[in-house]
Amino acid sequence: MRKLTLSLLAAAALLCACTQQKAAFPVYVWQGINEKTNMDELQQQMHFWKSQGVVGVCLENSDPAIVAEASARAHAEGLEYHAWIPCMLRADKPHEWYAVNRLGQSADEYPAYVSYYKALDPANPNVHKLLVDQMVEIAMLPNVDYVQLDYIRYPDVILSRGLWDKYGLVMDEEYAPADYCYCDDCVATFKELTGIDIKAVEDPSKVAEWAQFRCDQVTSLVNDICAAVHAKGGKVSADVFPGPHSHAVWMVRQEWDKWDVDMFFPMNYNDFYLQPAEWVGEVTKEEVNSVPDKPVISGLFICREWKRKVELEDPEQSGLIPAEMATAVKGAREAGAAGICLFTPGSMTPEHWHALAAALK
Ligand SMILES: [Zn+2]
Repeated sequence: MRKLTLSLLAAAALLCACTQQKAAFPVYVWQGINEKTNMDELQQQMHFWKSQGVVGVCLENSDPAIVAEASARAHAEGLEYHAWIPCMLRADKPHEWYAVNRLGQSADEYPAYVSYYKALDPANPNVHKLLVDQMVEIAMLPNVDYVQLDYIRYPDVILSRGLWDKYGLVMDEEYAPADYCYCDDCVATFKELTGIDIKAVEDPSKVAEWAQFRCDQVTSLVNDICAAVHAKGGKVSADVFPGPHSHAVWMVRQEWDKWDVDMFFPMNYNDFYLQPAEWVGEVTKEEVNSVPDKPVISGLFICREWKRKVELEDPEQSGLIPAEMATAVKGAREAGAAGICLFTPGSMTPEHWHALAAALK
């Protein structure tokens, strides 16, 4: 009897493996929308994406009326809807809510790298309340499947290798103007917890507890958002840096293997790290192993101007060319990803779609 059960189980497992092999590999897309977006045209785009294997859309907008309409259109096309919301970059909040860097400068007055890097302090209770309330409101819209947390992190204390030339920086150590947060509250809380006065330390980047403290602030914020959204029956996804331990933790303090989110979208943008397409599979493997019980959707950066990629020095204009699609997609799939996400479908040329279709077969 036991033997029979075992062989039945083995047969079922085999059948299951075959079915899984034949099942489609899900594709998602990231795209921005705004008040000028024509919703009929957006729905036509969605219809086309669906014909290309897309199962879900992540659309950037925080206006509940726009999200309500776009998500209804997505559901009409049979697509999952992730309401992609930038979290920590805000331009219009009270001065005290912004993070303070190691030089004592507030991010609203002295943003690092670019003028829009006005980063809030994730440890600030007002920031917690703002984000929890906003995410619950959007998660409760009838056609929103997930709220998607983006920019849920500190600014890059170390930029990805591919961006050093763009900003004229050599970042072989933590960059003080982008090292947050040294506001009075964070400094006092850390001293209470560890006895260390971080402002009196010559090189704070050498203090492991201080790095961990900042990771914990982001984790605590994320898990507060998750608890509130889950309590209302909603779901949370998150756009994260690769890793987490190979990159996200030390670049932007995202220890995302401790987060209670339901689906991860790591931005595995190989050109940002001066890596070939093969790297997508390697880093996806780390990610899948880091959150074994959660779906990992491997984010791919697409090069629109791919015919002149060799001339493109800025990684933010670079990305995968059609000939690299198969390597990236198969690498992600074999590493155990639950799908891929394209940044952006607008950068996908006909040659890219063709290469994607071939890779998905
Ligand atoms: Zn602070």
